[in-house]
Amino acid sequence: MNLPAPEELCRRAEEALIRCGAEITDGGGPLVARTPITGTELRTVTSSSAEDVDRAITAAHDAFLEWRSVPAPQRGAVARRLGQLLTEHKADLAELVTLEAGKIPSEAQGEVQEMIDICEFAVGLSRQLYGKTMASERPGHRLMETWHPLGVVGVISAFNFPVAVWSWNTAVALVCGDTVVWKPSDRTPLTAIACDALLARAARDVGAPAGIHALIQGAGDVGERLVDDARVALLSATGSVRMGRAVGPRVAARFGKCLLELGGNNAAVVAPSADLDLTVRGVVFSAAGTAGQRCTSLRRLIVHSSVADELVERISSAYGQLKVGNPFDDGVLVGPLVNRSAFEAMQTALDKARADGGTVVCGGERSGGSDSAYYVSPALVRMPAQTSVVREETFAPILYVLTYEDFDQAIALHNEVPQGLSSSIFTTDQREAERFLAADGSDCGIANVNIGTSGAEIGGAFGGEKETGGGRESGSDAWKAYMRRATNTVNYSDRLPLAQGVEFT
Ligand code: NAD
Repeated sequence: MNLPAPEELCRRAEEALIRCGAEITDGGGPLVARTPITGTELRTVTSSSAEDVDRAITAAHDAFLEWRSVPAPQRGAVARRLGQLLTEHKADLAELVTLEAGKIPSEAQGEVQEMIDICEFAVGLSRQLYGKTMASERPGHRLMETWHPLGVVGVISAFNFPVAVWSWNTAVALVCGDTVVWKPSDRTPLTAIACDALLARAARDVGAPAGIHALIQGAGDVGERLVDDARVALLSATGSVRMGRAVGPRVAARFGKCLLELGGNNAAVVAPSADLDLTVRGVVFSAAGTAGQRCTSLRRLIVHSSVADELVERISSAYGQLKVGNPFDDGVLVGPLVNRSAFEAMQTALDKARADGGTVVCGGERSGGSDSAYYVSPALVRMPAQTSVVREETFAPILYVLTYEDFDQAIALHNEVPQGLSSSIFTTDQREAERFLAADGSDCGIANVNIGTSGAEIGGAFGGEKETGGGRESGSDAWKAYMRRATNTVNYSDRLPLAQGVEFT
């Protein structure tokens, strides 16, 4: 495998940052932006101190006091302008996503497209923050609800969606009248600098207060300052279950609101009637795409025993055709793992699976790279049972295959994991498809039919149940998490009837 020279990658990062209008300073550290393509340094970035975080929250809070009174349709102008700038700089931002997260350009551009899509959605939303009017039981009274801006939203994001998750939160929060302080992953600080620069320009161009957005950089300790600050009305945190366990109770202890988007352990059920051509394509993209580093990556395949051998053979042969390597190279579909610990976690999981009686059908080994870059071929593993390793999320391309005999058993296996993010069924039997989507079917926040588990659109609410955290972001009515609801009763009569017929005279 031919890897590019580290200096070339540094140059590409710097040029993309400049094109996005980012201020290039000599970071001086101690945060080091690396690329998983070669495992080498791109540049250093300054970590935010406690004072920096406090200043950012203060500025966001001050800006909120002004921003909340700007009419929502006018707030939509920021999202509209941001969407235009993202369209203009789609290639630049995608370049940084490939450099820092290792995604192939098509997926990196897809991620930026999601940002553009959510900006369009947010512009429309700015005229649709609807409250309901309810029938009052009292004559001459009106009962209604009003949605008001919430406050400062703290956004903590993960390395694997370094720009989309920020935009889902930020575009919606801004039109809802909130302001945002963002702590991106310490593995993707450069893409964050570029996003921040584009939003600052959008705000300037439409005359919005500069303080509507602030970027703070660093690892978990910097994020913790957002977690504990009572001025952060909503903490929207995306990452591992471990992170969610750390932050959830702390936000709850100060009665703050939390929106958690945590790990998944996504499965697809493949029924005997499935269209196997379509199934193989759906499975391979979901399991091997992004080198298995999506929260929605397919990790478990629950296949009817009558089609299991054929399906495993066809997936294995499709895996054999996948080109693994430098994501910038033509034809490459699987880029690098993010770092050495991701590779080690993958090897540990494969060892455990073997010890539990599993058979590695193909993949799992390192395929070229360098000492500091970790490229692996996606692994396909047949398991005799859903053992503990199958019930964990290993953030790498491992697809465990389990078999079932009857449909109830498939659903039971499907739901018998602690996570509940995404799921799918491949079937042409309508009864099975409907059953999978019904109350006693998949217990996930996302349940699909005849497509894989990954690659959601922004129009729907995104998120999952159980250890995935219960949060919903992006489309549908996910905006409600970013606002506070007031119930209003207006008496327009000259009497004062009490509710429930209470007499007080
Ligand atoms: P991670 O948990 O290591 O880090 C996520 C973010 O949390 C980072 O910004 C990190 O600095 C911060 N953080 C960590 N500990 C913290 C603490 N104690 N207080 C405050 N902030 C803290 O996750 P990662 O390795 O970057 O990303 C992969 C994980 O994220 C996987 O589990 C994946 O499934 C999950 N993920 C979930 C979604 C979703 O929408 N459900 C989306 C993307 C990724």
